[in-house]
Amino acid sequence: MRRSAPSATVDGRQPAGGQAAGTAPDLPANAIELKGLRKIYRGAHGQPAMEALRGIDLLVPRGSFFGLLGPNGAGKSTLINILAGLVVKSAGRALVCGVDIDRNPRRARRAIGVVPQELNLDAFFTPRETLEFQAGLYGVPRRERRTSELLAAVGLSDKADAYARSLSGGMRRRLLVAKALVHDPPVVVLDEPTAGVDVELRRSLWEYMKGLNARGRTIVLTTHYLEEAERLCDRIAIIDRGTLVACDETSRLMRRLDEKELIVTVTPSPADLPEMLQARGVRLDERGRLRIRYRPSRTRVIDLLDAVRDAGFAITDLVTREPDLEELFLRLTGRGAEGTR
Ligand code: ADP
Ligand code: MG
Repeated sequence: MRRSAPSATVDGRQPAGGQAAGTAPDLPANAIELKGLRKIYRGAHGQPAMEALRGIDLLVPRGSFFGLLGPNGAGKSTLINILAGLVVKSAGRALVCGVDIDRNPRRARRAIGVVPQELNLDAFFTPRETLEFQAGLYGVPRRERRTSELLAAVGLSDKADAYARSLSGGMRRRLLVAKALVHDPPVVVLDEPTAGVDVELRRSLWEYMKGLNARGRTIVLTTHYLEEAERLCDRIAIIDRGTLVACDETSRLMRRLDEKELIVTVTPSPADLPEMLQARGVRLDERGRLRIRYRPSRTRVIDLLDAVRDAGFAITDLVTREPDLEELFLRLTGRGAEGTR
């Protein structure tokens, strides 16, 4: 593992002040370690039981910016909520900074700050009170509290004393981010932090998280946006229906997406496909267009078009198609027409 550091102890203890999370030599290599993690939600009111996590093995290297991707209902929030101590797992082990969440739940919880997907805030607390209360819960001494600094960092200084119920959705999201950071955790987990959030807030949130990451914190985020994950994360895991279907360096994962399709309309309309085009993997679709799958890193479009012309066709129109996150899921999970190759 590229980013792993030597691990002397596995107790996840933070150095005094918790400032040098990235440089301390006595921290374990992995910020999060999951082994056979399972969750079965027992059906209430006659509902069938639901297996949300089906034995997940996952390592999140310390210091990484890690993306957890998957379609709706994949089990992302379940996984995160288990780490946060909000959901009780059915089986398996989970370690946060080397601390087993069963053996030492309090210390495990201190090592992680979770921004939940739900905007659950006490409506009668002001942002300042919310952060002070949270700091109290985590036993952060008054002189070490950073309430004003955190409020400023998330752009809520002027709302510090307003009731939470008067805050907009975006402001609530930012307050939840600040709340997750009051105890200066070495691992920060954000569950869909940009769902329904405007571009400006997204940008500032990511800048802030990049800064934390540069100072050694491990950042884990779930998102629907492949593009966002691709830009921010050095590693990406994909889960689907409670199963891990991929986990790799972002660049390696994206290389699996190194496939485009060229759709070419030609005259005369081809009755059947010349041998030389068949040999290039061209197929004829139901509308008489030529469809050519190719790898942009290996094949130039111009060469493909030359081959079409050499076969005696004139090109009248052309379109290229790129795979998206949906298609990546389909390929990795082997579902759907495209995934059965
Ligand atoms: P994601 O965050 O990836 O969208 P979730 O972890 O929220 O996925 O949900 C995974 C599966 O577990 C879904 O099928 C969801 O309906 C189910 N689920 C989530 N929470 C509960 C719950 N409290 N009780 C029963 N089923 C649940
Ligand atoms: Mg979710």
